[in-house]
Amino acid sequence: MISKEKEYFEIINKIYLKVIKEENLGETANYIPELSKIDGEKFGVSLLFTDQLQFGFGDCEEKFSIQSISKVLLLALVYRDIGEKIWERVDVEPSGTSFNSLLQLETDKGIPRNPFINSGALVVCDILIDICDDPKAYFLDFIKKVSGNYSIQYSDKIAKSEFSTAYRNAALTNFIKSLGNIHNSPDDVLDLYVYICSIEMSCMELSKTFSFLANKGKNLFDDYQVLNISQTKRINAIMQTCGFYDESGEFAFRVGLPGKSGVGGGIVAIMPKYYIVSLWSPKLNLKGNSYRGMKFLEEFTTATEDSIF
Ligand code: GLU
Repeated sequence: MISKEKEYFEIINKIYLKVIKEENLGETANYIPELSKIDGEKFGVSLLFTDQLQFGFGDCEEKFSIQSISKVLLLALVYRDIGEKIWERVDVEPSGTSFNSLLQLETDKGIPRNPFINSGALVVCDILIDICDDPKAYFLDFIKKVSGNYSIQYSDKIAKSEFSTAYRNAALTNFIKSLGNIHNSPDDVLDLYVYICSIEMSCMELSKTFSFLANKGKNLFDDYQVLNISQTKRINAIMQTCGFYDESGEFAFRVGLPGKSGVGGGIVAIMPKYYIVSLWSPKLNLKGNSYRGMKFLEEFTTATEDSIF
């Protein structure tokens, strides 16, 4: 291990041991019954450098529900396939409202503020249904290719659990349909959406899957060009401005890296050209982001003095 990497290992180890001993505040996501059963004390971290060295701590090998983190992969796939036309259906502005907000849609004529709030991801799911024959299989194949891991799967249990209480997302889908920006059956769009959110990965797998965003659009392990350089820059930019719902400004302020969170308690953050860091700790703060994850990353970028700014 070269000294820079040894230094990172020691920094992460120290912060991990500190954060795990501190009070773990917040709640696991209780509006999805299966997610409320997850042990809130789980805590995993993985760092993958673009020279392919990777290390992990704690529960870094255990799979968890990546939830909204999947929205980045959904966007990457549809953006790759239809290019700039995607922005006719979804905008790229921070929303300043919660992840499941119905606000702003009516005044914006059913064009969601960005692809990472639920309304935006629902519209991107609608596009995916239009561009392929079997969207669930097509999306899963894409994830398998990008991650280089053919064991990655949807969780039927989590998807069904989410669907059973998805009243708000059903309202969003129907509302956008009434405004003309959903073209397929709202039930089909919602079904695809909950499956896409149900993908399970460990922190180690998550870092590998997101490696193309730190590596000019190219997979680290097989040189597969997922996106071009401009598309990669744009997805990182949207993660920076919209990746943490109405806490995106706070994440930029405290951490200073593009990233994306999910209500399963996962966070992935990118230091372009250098590394991908993934975390999992299921207890969420009031904005729906991992309490320990936010804390860990703030201390990590402070100690390493890393930031894109
Ligand atoms: N499936 C979740 C929902 O729609 C995703 C939310 C998230 O992870 O932010 O509520």
